[in-house]
This record gives sequence, structure tokens and C-alpha cells, in this order.
Amino acid sequence: MGLCALILAACSDAAADPDMAVSIPETTPAMDRYAEFAVVVARHQAMSERVARISRRLRVANSPLCDVTRHDVGLLTHQLDDYPPSLRALALHFMALDEDGRFIRSVVPGSPADRARLRAGEEIVSGWPFQADQPLMVDNGDGAVPIRLQSDLACVAPAFVINSDRLNASTDGREIELSSALVEQVGDDAALALIIAHEMAHVLRGHHQYGLHWNAELQADADALTLMRNADYDIDGTVAAWEMGVDAHRDSQAMSATHPPLEIRLRNLEGALATLNNGPAGFRPLSDASRERDASGD
Ligand SMILES: [Zn+2]
Repeated sequence: MGLCALILAACSDAAADPDMAVSIPETTPAMDRYAEFAVVVARHQAMSERVARISRRLRVANSPLCDVTRHDVGLLTHQLDDYPPSLRALALHFMALDEDGRFIRSVVPGSPADRARLRAGEEIVSGWPFQADQPLMVDNGDGAVPIRLQSDLACVAPAFVINSDRLNASTDGREIELSSALVEQVGDDAALALIIAHEMAHVLRGHHQYGLHWNAELQADADALTLMRNADYDIDGTVAAWEMGVDAHRDSQAMSATHPPLEIRLRNLEGALATLNNGPAGFRPLSDASRERDASGD
């Protein structure tokens, strides 16, 4: 199922389901609603952490390619205002939030924040958004203390998980949204990295200024392999998985009007992979050559 989701996931122009609210049936008794919400929160938290980890690996490794970068310490933070009014009571109850203040929602494993032993639930009293050479004031319950963090330069192309049953990934040219259904179905991290890197390529290339036509999609596919390779993902295995997926879903090719047929995308990916594998070792820029090859449509 993961491959199917990967191939059919369209980065549509249409904004993904904007309804971030978790729908909870009104008829459910209060305690059941709480229990249901706790399960939804835990699942969403796990998905967000996974996407944050993969996204950060891509954004840090490719920071030389991005016009817009920031010093990233590997923290996801939140505050009560981030949640719809109807969910704030539940968020207060389940998410270690307070009426005001910004709190650590999660820490990306292996990140500077993780190495500094920052943990979910701690309050960031000041110093956020993080700036290099500025300490974060963090309160873990025993009073605020200054935490000096190393940071990594990272592209600004944040990726989020929204609650939606549709298999979809999209970007508005700035942020990347992945549906929860997609993240759940794509179990392999490299396969999910390909989807995130594809959307990231749209951001880096500024495709949204021109619209997402077939050439932009093919270019984003090819770029995604470059971004993944720079982040040390297994691009040979990822393309091989695509080949198997296309074989299994030849009948599904009419799925997306905004994307080229799967066979064309696959040949484009194979060409980009060969170019990367035959090229020099080490960090690679986004290719102008791939743009020309993509435009030829063969
Ligand atoms: Zn796309």
C-alpha cells in the first residue's frame, strides 16, 4: 500500500483539507471523547515527529541550495493559540500546555536540542524563534534556565502533518503539508523522504510563481533525488521501489490530471538517477541539465 500511496500522491494545487480539527462525534460520552482524542493526539504526534525528522535531514543537508535558511535546533513548539477554540480544553488536558506560554512539543532525535537534553513539555520562556548566539530560556518546572544551543543551518521549507483521509502532499510555495493518511500509508522513510523532497523542490525552484505543469512535476521528481542523495538517502532503492509500484499500478494512471503519466515520471526518475550515479561524488547542486531533459518530455 505504501508504494501505491507514494505514486498516487498528488501535490495538487488545491490546498489540502484545511479542516485541521479532529472531528469527535457529539453523541460520544465525555470520557470516550477524551479517550478518542488522546489516541488521535498520540498518533498525530508520532507522525509529526517522523515528518520533522525526515524533513530536517533534508533541510540541513541541502542548506547550501536554499536562498532562505535559518538556524535550526530541532525543536517543534506549540502554544494554545495554535489549536482551534473548540479543541483548546482538550489540548490543555492532553498536551502539557498552559493557558499562555510556548512549550516544546517534540525534539528531533539527534538534533542540537536533543543533545542539549531539551524535552517535550518544557516551557520556552524567551529566545524563540531561535537565533544563533542567543540562549533559549527554558523552564522544565524548576525555574527558567538559559540553554545555549548549537544549531544547524537549514532550508526554510517546514513540513507539517494535517489530519485528512485523503492521500495528499502539497505546498503553497512556502510550507509543505502532508495528509495523515499519506504519512500512515508510506511506511518507508526513504519513500516518504521522496515525497517531502519533491515538495521541497517546488519550494526551492519557486514553481508556484509559474504554476505546477508537467515539466515542473518532472523537475521536482529529479530534484528530489538530488536532495535525497545530498542527505544520504538510498536513492537507488527508492527508484527501484517506484519501478515495482508502477508495475503494480499500471491501471491507475488516469488518477491525476495535474501530473504526468507514471511511465513518464518513472523514466524521468531513472534518467535523473543515472545522471547522479554517473556524476562526481559529494554534494550536488540542483541540475540545470535535468531541467532540459525534463522539458524534452522523453
Ligand atoms: Zn509536485
